[in-house]
Amino acid sequence: MRTNQPQPPEVLALAQALIRCPSVTPADAGALGVLEEALKPFGFACHRLPFETGGSPRVENLYAVAGKGGRNFCFAGHTDVVPPGDLKGWRVDPFAAVVEKDELIGRGAADMKGAIAAFAAAAARFLRRHGEDFGGRISLLVTGDEEGPSINGTRQVLGWLAARGETLDACVVGEPTNPERLGDMIKIGRRGSINARLTVRGVQGHSAYPQLADNPVHRLLRMLGRLTAAPMDAGTPHFQPSTLQVTSIDVGNPATNVIPAEARALFNIRFNDLHSAASLERWLRAAFDAEAATYDLALHVTGEAFLTPPGPLSDLLAGAVKRVTGREPELSTTGGTSDARFIKDHCPVAEFGLAGSTMHKIDERVPVADLAALSEIYEAVLEGYFGKQC
Ligand SMILES: [Zn+2]
Repeated sequence: MRTNQPQPPEVLALAQALIRCPSVTPADAGALGVLEEALKPFGFACHRLPFETGGSPRVENLYAVAGKGGRNFCFAGHTDVVPPGDLKGWRVDPFAAVVEKDELIGRGAADMKGAIAAFAAAAARFLRRHGEDFGGRISLLVTGDEEGPSINGTRQVLGWLAARGETLDACVVGEPTNPERLGDMIKIGRRGSINARLTVRGVQGHSAYPQLADNPVHRLLRMLGRLTAAPMDAGTPHFQPSTLQVTSIDVGNPATNVIPAEARALFNIRFNDLHSAASLERWLRAAFDAEAATYDLALHVTGEAFLTPPGPLSDLLAGAVKRVTGREPELSTTGGTSDARFIKDHCPVAEFGLAGSTMHKIDERVPVADLAALSEIYEAVLEGYFGKQC
């Protein structure tokens, strides 16, 4: 072995360096630079990809790739974090990356700077062992806009890759997928999500003379009742039942004797692979039209339901998890959306990261031992994917 070879980064130290950049969306605060410096010595070509479109703030992104051609295994993630919240509630400075009782504490420790450090270190070890001419490519697609509007992040980078003819062949997203312990759960898909804003118009009037008015509150309640009267479905082999949750009803009427002119409601639908945003819009409009109301319905689709059916990628990941942790991960589609919803249009994608029980919370933290274990899992995935010895 040559003595001037660079040493692969130590996972904990790299995670700490990333957390010490207070990269609350859309700020980068140096986080991608830290990652670039860790990757470059191992032959990664680093492309910084700032985007600023759609009236959304400028966001920094990084696409880093190593290898001399062949199948491209991509790791995807985000360096942006949610705000720390009430600083007085934190045991320690959320951006100091303190280790206490064998746990790394800080904003982004679980979601998901720990996983980025684990993957970067795994890729570095793989490249040091096999060299750059290992018969494939390893890439990292890391955005600074996942916790925010997700407009100038992964979606834009995927467009940039497609325009260059750069393909991805498989992708693991390092979101914190494990409910409690490392090895609990791999995500092989996600439910879709739609946010809806319903406005019902009527005719204002005196509550003693309802025949002279048209009460939009009554109509709104009946319209919502049609949606919630029965379960949407019973679930599918890989998905929970779809749900519709009314999250607000707003009239803003201070008078008890005035029928208002307008009533509004907000609701959110989390849907499985029996539905699409288009089929749900048809269902909603049919239900609302049946009440003969005058209404506006504004829908914001944050993602369609998708599934990478159990197969080579989930088998590879589950095998690596089993080897390192001794545990059989559940293949799941639960939880919120992630950037996998954009990547699924480009290649098979699965998600596996740290334990997520403290993500977005005060005192976000992960066991230090999990960082090293996750890095070993990612390394085993790379070895398996490229047919190298484990
Ligand atoms: Zn995340």
